[in-house]
Amino acid sequence: MKDAKNETITDSEWEVMRAIWTMGQTTSRELIDAMNQLQGWSDSTTKTLLHRLINKGAVAQSGTSRPFVFKPIVGEKESMAAAATDLFDHMCAMRAGSTIAGVIKTRELSQADIAELQAILTEKAKTAPEQVQCNCLPGHHMCEEVEEHGQ
Ligand SMILES: [Zn+2]
Repeated sequence: MKDAKNETITDSEWEVMRAIWTMGQTTSRELIDAMNQLQGWSDSTTKTLLHRLINKGAVAQSGTSRPFVFKPIVGEKESMAAAATDLFDHMCAMRAGSTIAGVIKTRELSQADIAELQAILTEKAKTAPEQVQCNCLPGHHMCEEVEEHGQ
């Protein structure tokens, strides 16, 4: 996974970012307590992850004396969007639709989410092609064959 600045963010680092985004800003003590409560992580685990996120430019330290305050530099929405784009970029174009369908099936969505999705789909249906072309290895037809057998 990558953040909005195209840096790879690990699963553990994502959990720390989620906490920081939710809190808006945090001291290392508050963050350590939060991650201990949420994940059962030790002080040193959270401190290590926080410093990696600072080095990756995802979090900034402000203030000149203790306790330092830490704030997210990358936004939650843009980071989620970048991570989702990254995931789909690694996937056969033919598979994107069924993958999205699977995500929609298994996730809880609000009435507003569903209304938005329906509006987007109605709009997309106006110009959608009959079939999305595979963008894997040219000259190989594995993706299409699997698709035809009802995968
Ligand atoms: Zn393919």
